[in-house]
Amino acid sequence: MLFVKPARPVKKVFIHISASDNPDHDNAATIDAWHRAKGWSGIGYHFFIRKSGQIERGRDLEKTPAAQAPYNRGTIAICISGLKIGKVTKEELAALVDLCWQINDAYNGQVTFHGHREVANKTCPVIDYKKVLGISEKGYLAGTRPDKTKTKSEPAIVVSTPEPASATIRHGDKGFQVEALQRQLVKLGYQVGGIDNNFGDRTRAAVLAFQVDNHLITDGVVGAATTEALSDATPRQISLERDAASIASLATDGSRIADASMKSLATGTAVSVSGIVSLLPFFSDTFKSLKTQLTPVLETFGGMSDAVTYGLLIAVAYLTWQAWRSGAARVEDHKSGKTA
Ligand SMILES: [Zn+2]
Repeated sequence: MLFVKPARPVKKVFIHISASDNPDHDNAATIDAWHRAKGWSGIGYHFFIRKSGQIERGRDLEKTPAAQAPYNRGTIAICISGLKIGKVTKEELAALVDLCWQINDAYNGQVTFHGHREVANKTCPVIDYKKVLGISEKGYLAGTRPDKTKTKSEPAIVVSTPEPASATIRHGDKGFQVEALQRQLVKLGYQVGGIDNNFGDRTRAAVLAFQVDNHLITDGVVGAATTEALSDATPRQISLERDAASIASLATDGSRIADASMKSLATGTAVSVSGIVSLLPFFSDTFKSLKTQLTPVLETFGGMSDAVTYGLLIAVAYLTWQAWRSGAARVEDHKSGKTA
């Protein structure tokens, strides 16, 4: 399989090193897990070259890498396996040369090649990549493409997109991946009701709102497409009007849920407060006066026994609480853009 250039513009190729000689780390899946642990959507490099010379695919080439900020746009990022210069294998260097020439040819020599250290205070990629690749002063591949028949190893680009530790995050999930998701949502302007590492109703509502805004499938589940969109998105613009939304203004706007919530909140509170108060004998005077004031409301309960009345009052109190909750949730939905 040959390198196929992506549709997005590419001007530069950056070379990195994994900073580990641990054999367990000699694969794209490990790098993917590391980068997810940082809260990224997945591996930041497009290619990972193993000690064996096998080239693994990482991030989708159509996506900007997360590798040498703030110079990620318009680049392809390649990571070779290793830490110490003496432990980088001939096989992986041959694979690097082959891959870079493939990229060079795909762009008719119009891309330049760089080490991470050119743009950061780092030693990455440790190796003398300029010598290995034969890079000119301006960054172009200056030599001639090595004859593949003469090289011992013939590295093939293996399409093995790393199996992410947990590709999908959904309602009920907990842990640092949820935390990263919540932080990202908040950063982008979506309310999650607190960073608690717990994918609950509010986080799901925020994900749904994000999916609506980004024309994704609105299933409330954070799969590959939503993950990518989250990493690429810029913070949403929240209008002042929306931000200032309250139950009252929503009711005026004709939002029926909020409106109903307000009405039952008003009557419900009066009825349940009097009910609780009447349960306490020493408040009976208060209850009597309240009863007088609330006659229109309490008429309904006139012919009933006290037990039934109290039962009803408790039910009303519960419904009031529910109504208050739905009103509050509705306001937050409005703010977070779940509803129009
Ligand atoms: Zn690097």
